[in-house]
Amino acid sequence: MQIEKNKVVSLNYTLKNDDGEILDTSEGRTPLEYIHGIGNLIPGLEEALEGKTKHDKLNVTIPPEKAYGVGSEQLIQTVKRSNFEENADIKVGMQFQAQMDYGMQLFTVTKIEGDDVTLDGNHPLADQTLHFDVDVVDVRDATAEELEHGHVHQAGEHHH
Ligand code: ZN
Repeated sequence: MQIEKNKVVSLNYTLKNDDGEILDTSEGRTPLEYIHGIGNLIPGLEEALEGKTKHDKLNVTIPPEKAYGVGSEQLIQTVKRSNFEENADIKVGMQFQAQMDYGMQLFTVTKIEGDDVTLDGNHPLADQTLHFDVDVVDVRDATAEELEHGHVHQAGEHHH
């Protein structure tokens, strides 16, 4: 069975950056399962998996445009510490959600200088070229219920 839209795909993967550092891996965990073709994975990875079958192994290099996007200066801003709650213990690396005009946005504190706090709303993997090693473990049809919910159900799982 080939990977195409609405198939449930199980895969093992290792994700590395350009320096060869491992950013994420399914090793030691159960394989990742997702429904193909509905935007559950980054576009470059779904494109590479299209048409593949069980036991296929892939080595994929994905540019930022087809991964987590190109970083935008507009999503980086500096605000005064007084914008935070009075006793808030703001540290570099902290993440929090803020209500923006277009919806909720996740920001990471990237710099603190005196009273100035720099916030970055870009995805942590923005601007990065990603290298995936992927083993296709299984491919099957999604059930009607899985398609309705937009996610994979484990064997025997029923919920609403
Ligand atoms: Zn469900």
